[in-house]
Amino acid sequence: HNPIAGSNPALPAQKPRLRRGFFLLQKSLKIRKVPKMDFEKLALKQPLLRAIREAGYSKPTPIQEKAIPVLLQKKDLCGIAQTGTGKTAAFALPILELLLISGVIRASKCCRTLVLLPTRELAIQVADCFEKYAKFTAIKTACIFGGVSDIPQKRALLHGVDVLVATPGRLLDLIAQKSISLKQIEFFVLDEADRMLDMGFIHDIRKILSMLPAHRQNLFFSATMPSDIVDLAKSILRKDYETIEVVPTFTPVECITQKVFHVGRKQKSLLLKELLFTHPEMNKVLVFSRTKHGANRISETLSKAGIASAAIHGNKSQTKRQEALGNFKTEQIRVLVATDIAARGIDVDNVSHVFNYDLPELPETYMHRIGRTGRAGKEGVAISFCSPEERFELKAIEKALKMKLPEGDSSILEKILATLPKESKPENYQQRKSKKKKFKSPKAQETPKKENTENSPKLEVSSLEMGKSRKKRRNRPGSRARRRLRGEIE
Ligand code: AMP
Repeated sequence: HNPIAGSNPALPAQKPRLRRGFFLLQKSLKIRKVPKMDFEKLALKQPLLRAIREAGYSKPTPIQEKAIPVLLQKKDLCGIAQTGTGKTAAFALPILELLLISGVIRASKCCRTLVLLPTRELAIQVADCFEKYAKFTAIKTACIFGGVSDIPQKRALLHGVDVLVATPGRLLDLIAQKSISLKQIEFFVLDEADRMLDMGFIHDIRKILSMLPAHRQNLFFSATMPSDIVDLAKSILRKDYETIEVVPTFTPVECITQKVFHVGRKQKSLLLKELLFTHPEMNKVLVFSRTKHGANRISETLSKAGIASAAIHGNKSQTKRQEALGNFKTEQIRVLVATDIAARGIDVDNVSHVFNYDLPELPETYMHRIGRTGRAGKEGVAISFCSPEERFELKAIEKALKMKLPEGDSSILEKILATLPKESKPENYQQRKSKKKKFKSPKAQETPKKENTENSPKLEVSSLEMGKSRKKRRNRPGSRARRRLRGEIE
């Protein structure tokens, strides 16, 4: 038996030598087999792996690595994770796998998986993910949410779906209208549970829970776990549930070029406009504002300057927010101005630049903001505007980053300053600093000279008994205490 030729005796005698020759050639050219994609270790079906490959994922994220095997064992799961950790794929992929394995045929006006989310944006985002991963299967997904006509949604449910992604209010509406039934649910996912409770959905959730069949697999996700959320989780999950916690995976800071401009508060809008005018490569720009009014003002200024932009924040209607987000995703607008709360949970790919128009109060918020760019191995740029009032925030950020943020191109700042009338020119940070120093020096000269005090008799007063300034005052040659000691006064 020749191990190289195999067990086939009919193979010609030269074959082993040829094979060995090819092996040596391969070795000399350093051709190696392409390593297996890590997702293959997770034992998912080929259509799912194909979709993962097409989505450009090379490796599972930590939550995917931990959650997928647990869910494939049909266990309940409590996941403490935020958006951006890859948690959608962590629950969508095993659910799709199990749906494919069980192969149960769907019934009309029924669904097999229910994913509950608090907002329309998140529901659309999650439904898009399910569709993306199930692209090469026959699995059907529908998404229902309020604020729009229910007719197309009812039509989508008519013949039943495998996955239904819903917001609680519209789901209860359609259940009441008998457009959907939950009696065939096999998988129930409650996502963003903390936000659900913040938004007052607890009664709707309890109502929906009471309609679910007892035998089902439950998945519970929340970014935070205060006691009321823990209670809710325990009331939903089966006793042997597993808990998985992942810290937010920020985009590695090395992938993001960070810069800071020291600029006056009132000159920030001029600087933003100038940068956008002179840098056409800033094509998908996310600007963070601390306040809702600020976000509106920035967006209006940019629109007036002919830069297509929109603002999203809590005061905007769902429809307006969805429209702005959709236009930004499809690059119909170049700039999206957002507050931190409005931007939470929103996922937009290929953001070229993130602007911190106002510096955030917490360094973690800074990390979250800049993590919107430089995703999936792409280069990203984060530019911060720091006014003199914000230098403490900057210091905190630099401390967290363990580096000093490099300063942006000063010629742009000079150009802007040159266009301003003289009296409105702001002092920059350096100027303020040097002024402070100048102010300090005359004070230093004022301090009493050493030799004066050295010649005078020492006072035996404990430094614990009096503060430093009082001690200084008593040490002055003409002070009452000294004169009393010398017996000049009583
Ligand atoms: P999520 O936390 O589910 O909102 O996901 C955040 C982003 O990560 C989405 O844009 C996903 O497409 C992306 N993503 C999820 N899993 C992976 C992965 N394994 N590799 C790269 N990107 C991923």
